[in-house]
Amino acid sequence: MSDNRKNPSVVVIGAGMTGIMLVIKLREAGIINVTLLEKKESVGGTWRENTYPGVACDVPGHAYTYSFAPNPEWSSLFAPGSEIHQYFIDVYHKYGVDTCTRFNEAVTSCVYQDGKWKLESSQGNTYVADLVFAATGMLHHPVIPDFEGLDSFTGVTMHSAQWDHSVQLEGKRIGVIGNGSSGAQLIPELIDKADTDVTVFQRTPQWLVKVVDKPYSEQDKERFRNKPAAMQRVKDGALFVYGKGTAALASDSPWYRLIHKAMAWNARRYLKQSIKDPELRAKLTPDYKLGCKRVVMNATFYDAIQKPNAHLVTEGIDRFEEGGIRTTDGQFHPLDAVVFATGFDPSAYMRPMNFVGRAGLTIKEAWSKKIQAYRSLCLPGFPNFFLMLGPNSPIGNYSVIAISEMQADYALQLVSHWQAGELETIEVKPEALGGWNAMLREKMKHTVWTSGCNSWYLDGEGDPLLWPGNWKQWVAEMKAPAISDFYRASPAAHNSDADVSDVA
Ligand code: NAP
Repeated sequence: MSDNRKNPSVVVIGAGMTGIMLVIKLREAGIINVTLLEKKESVGGTWRENTYPGVACDVPGHAYTYSFAPNPEWSSLFAPGSEIHQYFIDVYHKYGVDTCTRFNEAVTSCVYQDGKWKLESSQGNTYVADLVFAATGMLHHPVIPDFEGLDSFTGVTMHSAQWDHSVQLEGKRIGVIGNGSSGAQLIPELIDKADTDVTVFQRTPQWLVKVVDKPYSEQDKERFRNKPAAMQRVKDGALFVYGKGTAALASDSPWYRLIHKAMAWNARRYLKQSIKDPELRAKLTPDYKLGCKRVVMNATFYDAIQKPNAHLVTEGIDRFEEGGIRTTDGQFHPLDAVVFATGFDPSAYMRPMNFVGRAGLTIKEAWSKKIQAYRSLCLPGFPNFFLMLGPNSPIGNYSVIAISEMQADYALQLVSHWQAGELETIEVKPEALGGWNAMLREKMKHTVWTSGCNSWYLDGEGDPLLWPGNWKQWVAEMKAPAISDFYRASPAAHNSDADVSDVA
């Protein structure tokens, strides 16, 4: 590195799959003054948090690894959560990321002052950095709906992402609220526990696409160890299928419409073949388009829900009472435990930290009209800051690792321009964000996510927080930054041009 290139100090917030990868890539780019701040006492993010029975990834393991760290040891096609968690721990240690990590450091405040970011943590520590990457994830704020009478319930309660393994659920009457991807994985496990009686409270039927797991034999693993190309083939195949599936949700071209129809036909056939009782089948039949909500990929739910100790309740929840749940039809469901598989707040991102950019611009002001980020990564008024997996990335329908690696490479190109002095700070112009938003709006019209259903994909205004294109288009967007979209010289105040909060 030549002497006159800037040598930044960097803080990465969050030691999940994105944060670990960022430290590795920053170091590879010669940036070694990096601190990784983690709010909890260990690494792994979502895979540390989600330990509910049956937790697994519905993206094949070989497509859920870093490009630089393939893993021949996956025990099956769809790796269980504990194995995925261990993979990230192993990479973390192998690449020496532990040397720059500070645990139990929840960032409470991140403020841009005098050309630097000043961060404060829950422990009262202060950090100063030239660059900040928020690798805080998207689905990490569990939501428990505010049900009437919840406080009066005397049984056990837990959210799917806050599993209490000390609770013995065998022999218990268990209610599960929610039947999304988490619910569909954990419900069969609860039904299979000894002497349980499981009542599933379903508000909306889900589209289920059958994906069958396949254990890898020792022979398979040996082949992967000796022939990395074999792993790459599994990865490429999986990403091809997921890519085409996502494209079918985001495009109205005749070809993709046909694929969408085929996917829906296949899912309906799976439902019909699996559920014999027409009444139960009717309850499980969605009345909205496949993919409008995140498709549930699963092969165990339909069998499980037909077992004698399983009940599907589709009447709404009226209230909790001391010993159970009363539904709107007046029926009382006595329960010992309730599991909330009720999802997450997808729009929190780096919040609730006090996040203030240049000239006192708060994130609340910046996002007062809309949650938005240029290339899902950069915010006008927040120089030298990158929001990994920000709004409108292809999250939800593709391997999140591939997405964050691509964003990291894009961000590092910007950092390189800044190091070379071509940009005084890395700050995107509001008009570039406006152009990005206009493109998203136009493309969004053609997606299934705007076809009328309720899902975590939608922000407060009902706009999908997803990337409305196919993977190829995303790759093209993320290939190289358009430098003219960024200020060459740092503007003096955030309202020197259009204020970012005016961008909608
Ligand atoms: P989710 O998809 O948001 O599902 C939440 C469930 O709770 C829905 O069934 C929802 O019903 C129900 N619900 C919410 N509030 C309710 C209320 N007040 N009354 C009754 N029901 C209520 O959450 P999730 O299952 O945790 O999954 C979230 C995302 O995490 C997934 O979409 C996926 O992207 C990711 N995930 C991935 C995997 C994987 O294998 N890769 C596994 C688990 C999760 P409605 O449908 O009516 O809103």
